[in-house]
Amino acid sequence: MRIPFIAGNWKMYKNIKEAAEFAREFKKNYVASDVQVAICAPFTQLSVLVEAFKGTGIKVGAQNMHFEEQGAFTGEVSGAMLKEIGVDYCIIGHSERRQYFGETDETVNKKLHVAFRYEILPILCVGEVLAERDEGRALSVVAAQTEAALYGLTAEQVERLTIAYEPVWAIGTGRTATPGQADEMCGHIRSVIAGLYGEDVSDKVVIQYGGSVKPDNATELMNMYEIDGALVGGASLSPDDFMKIVNF
Ligand code: 13P
Repeated sequence: MRIPFIAGNWKMYKNIKEAAEFAREFKKNYVASDVQVAICAPFTQLSVLVEAFKGTGIKVGAQNMHFEEQGAFTGEVSGAMLKEIGVDYCIIGHSERRQYFGETDETVNKKLHVAFRYEILPILCVGEVLAERDEGRALSVVAAQTEAALYGLTAEQVERLTIAYEPVWAIGTGRTATPGQADEMCGHIRSVIAGLYGEDVSDKVVIQYGGSVKPDNATELMNMYEIDGALVGGASLSPDDFMKIVNF
């Protein structure tokens, strides 16, 4: 039985004051349920959110971490540093990091290993660009990203992984994948994992859809068989909109 998981990805938005305001507003109407909720925020807001959400069940995630434990890596933050402040999740391999910051399948794989070492639960992002979909290569591209990311992970680790299928052409564009397209890809990712680790493992992996998820399309997406959750960008910045998605 997979627990539905709705995570917000604030990207590079909000300051500390705005994060605290969001937490205050969101908590007012939040009722704990069998839906797991997390906010993945910029580094400077993580401690504020960890404190604000204490005792609520709402989890806090980072959006990136380095794959080394420590060292001369100016500007980077390690898994241990995130763990120290009480972060539960970390987005790894978001397409914006792949596109703008040189993230590769290899660094994604290293980061997943380190995240598990520090008991930070990774939200691994995979997804094709528009040209790959138009050329009919979406399934093979996402399968290859998934296989490369999981290399060397144990079955026990993979069972605890969240994967977000985020077609790059649907991010921030208002153009959502159809529920059918999203469901097909989430099912495909699950079958790739089944091929590597068996169905007992693949049945446990939570697979989210991300890309222009809004209050008015969340229900339809969440009702699809293979879609267990959502990774929400723009709509997670508003406590009201995010609450509506959480209550899909
Ligand atoms: P939007 O919901 O703004 O399209 O962003 C999706 C995303 O990239 C979440 O990680």
